[in-house]
Amino acid sequence: MKPKIIRLPEVVINQIAAGEVVENPASIVKELIENSLDAEAQAICVEIVGGGQQLIRIEDDGCGMSPEDALLCLERHATSKIRSVDDLQSLATLGFRGEALAAICSVSHFELKTSDGTATRVLVEGGVIKTVEPCARNRGTTIEVRSLFYNVPARRKFQKSPSANTAQVTRIVETVALAHPEVAFSLIVNGKKTVDLKPSASRIEEVLGKFEHEVKGEGILGYVAAPHKAMSTRTGQILFVNKRPLFSPLISKAVKTGFGTRIAEHAYPPFILFLEVCPESIDVNVHPQKKEARFKDEKILFQKVQEAVERAFSPSFIFTEPLSFDPPPAFSFLEEGPSVSQPVVEEKEFDLVFAERPLFVLKNYLFVQKEHLILVDLAAAHARLLFESLNKEKGLSQALMWPLEIPWEKGDEERVASLNEMGIECRLLNRTLLIDALPALLDPIHFSHFLDSWKIKRRLDWAAGDYCRRLRKEYSIEEAFQLWRRVQTCRDFLYDPLGHRIWAPIQLEDLESILVSK
Ligand code: ADP
Ligand code: MG
Repeated sequence: MKPKIIRLPEVVINQIAAGEVVENPASIVKELIENSLDAEAQAICVEIVGGGQQLIRIEDDGCGMSPEDALLCLERHATSKIRSVDDLQSLATLGFRGEALAAICSVSHFELKTSDGTATRVLVEGGVIKTVEPCARNRGTTIEVRSLFYNVPARRKFQKSPSANTAQVTRIVETVALAHPEVAFSLIVNGKKTVDLKPSASRIEEVLGKFEHEVKGEGILGYVAAPHKAMSTRTGQILFVNKRPLFSPLISKAVKTGFGTRIAEHAYPPFILFLEVCPESIDVNVHPQKKEARFKDEKILFQKVQEAVERAFSPSFIFTEPLSFDPPPAFSFLEEGPSVSQPVVEEKEFDLVFAERPLFVLKNYLFVQKEHLILVDLAAAHARLLFESLNKEKGLSQALMWPLEIPWEKGDEERVASLNEMGIECRLLNRTLLIDALPALLDPIHFSHFLDSWKIKRRLDWAAGDYCRRLRKEYSIEEAFQLWRRVQTCRDFLYDPLGHRIWAPIQLEDLESILVSK
């Protein structure tokens, strides 16, 4: 017999919907914190036991609810935040669907205590209201969620371990707190306070530590980490749009593009970015948990973010005078045979043109005097220049007096074309790889090392970095200063292609701290 259609009872509808809105303790904590923030709380205290499956308790000092609203808020699609679809266009609150409380109370033992002056206590079990009574409470709201998913075994089974849930809840609390430094947040896990954030202007540093580069732009504020801190996943990437935490591959890609060649291909730079866009240009009603959004002008936004990140890497203070010097003579690192490197321009001229002078070379480092003392990692500078020249300045190779002969290895046939593309002019002859010309920055004596590095990953960024580091070259002061001057003409001259910092100013405090720590 064909089953007859029936209308599902409201409680069942809520339980089904709950699966979408709240799938684990962390998503519940997120919804409840967002409610407290929408209620303009100044202090929010979250407590969990057993990863949240036993208990989630959240207490705020927000506006609270009247006895009437304390009941209404538990109904599905009951919200104080929008009145019509049009309001979604100018949304100023984090919530808007009126679904979270209905969902949460349908899958737990739920207690609400709230007061807008008059305090009410409501007890709900599996979506069924059991008790409504007056109680004592200052203005604000406390919600307790116990025995989560006790009546939805399918979902209960798929919960993570308490420790994994605790980690997720902690991350949510800390993440949301980043966008609301004026609000106090605390988290108590199994009776122990694990997060205690007072209102503070330096919350980002307190929670995430120091970032190396500040990002500023129209409607964009935040930080990106130094390239060498890049990770293999997106976990270090935090985005807020109008203070709402969001996941956005688009913005992630824009940041990555802004990093340019400072970072390897499959690396994700940690960042925290706050975007402010007008509410009409973003649709947050696309994901049940409001984790994603749709932007109207994706291209413009992408470009804005990319450019802001690019600017974050351009050091503004150090080059007060324009870098208008003639291109330095081609130089090579030939250690034997005729050197094409010219003696460096006289020192007087540096003062005039650069107002910077090389002081000395210590191992791999050059010290330059400018407004600050500057420390230059020569291997990193070398790697950046080498990478740029192999990547872009093809054709500037210098013919070798005698071809270099390198014994043939399997796969060389395919390599010849790529090598030639980089300006490494070569051919195969009788099972020998003959190198006829090399770019100026590759020295014939050590060329085989470069080839080895390149063969390992067939990635130019990696090969350039690896080769220069392993070279352990002793740079003369002239060579070192040339290198420093040339690297300043590169667009990305703060980092080498593997994300190692090329140079840094040494500040007075740095020197003092050396003395203090000794
Ligand atoms: P939404 O946030 O989408 O409106 P919720 O189900 O999360 O939906 O909450 C329903 C309503 O309950 C909110 O619109 C708000 O009016 C009220 N509410 C929920 N939590 C709080 C709170 N902590 N303080 C004051 N009011 C609250
Ligand atoms: Mg809500």
